Amino acid sequence: MSAIAVDLYSDTVSRPTPAMRKAMAEAEVGNEQAHEDPTVNKLCEMAAELTGHEAAVYVPSGTMCNAIAYRVYCRQGDAVILDQLAHPIHAETGGPAALSGCMLTQVDGGRRGIFTGADVDKAVKPYKRNRPVAKVVSIEQTSNFGGGACWTLDEVKDVAAAAKRHDLKLHMDGARMLNAVAATGTSAKDFASQCDSAWIDLSKGLGCPIGAVLVGPADFIEEAWRWKTQFGGAMRQAGIVAAAGVYALTHHVERLAEDHANAKRLAKGLMQIPGIEVDPEEPETNMVFFDANGTGIDNFDMSKRLLAKGVRIGAGYGPRDLMRAVTHIDVSTDDIDAALAAIRDVAAGRD
Ligand SMILES: *Cc1c(COP(=O)(O)O)cnc(C)c1O
Repeated sequence: MSAIAVDLYSDTVSRPTPAMRKAMAEAEVGNEQAHEDPTVNKLCEMAAELTGHEAAVYVPSGTMCNAIAYRVYCRQGDAVILDQLAHPIHAETGGPAALSGCMLTQVDGGRRGIFTGADVDKAVKPYKRNRPVAKVVSIEQTSNFGGGACWTLDEVKDVAAAAKRHDLKLHMDGARMLNAVAATGTSAKDFASQCDSAWIDLSKGLGCPIGAVLVGPADFIEEAWRWKTQFGGAMRQAGIVAAAGVYALTHHVERLAEDHANAKRLAKGLMQIPGIEVDPEEPETNMVFFDANGTGIDNFDMSKRLLAKGVRIGAGYGPRDLMRAVTHIDVSTDDIDAALAAIRDVAAGRD
């Protein structure tokens, strides 16, 4: 296998930049779990301010943010309502069941991981002793396995109103909420303030090595701390990594638009290659899902053959085992063109 020259496997492969590493090296630190780490405290203040929430807590991963929020809201056996494409169903090792004790009630929103207030109405059944009790509606901004699709503010408001009607909490898995902000022009505050709790991932498009920040009302965050600690997520001199988050929120938010432009460029180029079908044709954010089967090379084989040429793109996403290319801070426009050239070669049997 040759070295990976263009890595479109995920935005999680992005590496901390020299300037980010410098900020990390110079971070003021303290004992995070005693609220004595000034850099963590600053990061939490920034995240609360950005999202319009009262309080925030720094958490090692987005997966743990979902586990904590569901644990706060649910007793054993209670239900979380989410789309059938949602990340906690497919990619969190059963954490909602194992750690939070909740069931996942899946709705089929039919629009790339996005559903409506009417879908929530349908999913909430009248009380009966033998039924699981729904406690939370969980939405994903952007929808990862929905192809990086954005909820519009109106769609979030519609679901928020339904959650209120049924006395449910609304939680936002905002792993890529800032991508949605860049794509739609709606502010993080507008999206997140519709929700009882939300989180953003620092280790995806924002380019940090680690971390996520969970936000909500002070009493929710206080309870979140108990489960963060029980799940092993309370830390010590975490300012070393939180400094990357402070740096990223200052310097890496505006540039997400470049990743979106690169994703569009990739999609456009892919559509010109015979046998490749891009879905959707116009990516909304930083993800491009496509099917290479029409070239006579299946997606898994295409992925392997591209890797041999130094281009990494994963295969096996969703029911059609699609390929998924994700743009990020370490992918330039030239890299996109190099990836397209490699895909063209493999599709034409020139590899
Ligand atoms: C990556 C991701 C997660 C999990 O975040 P980690 O930081 O990898 O644990 C949760 N939800 C969505 C939509 C994601 O893309």
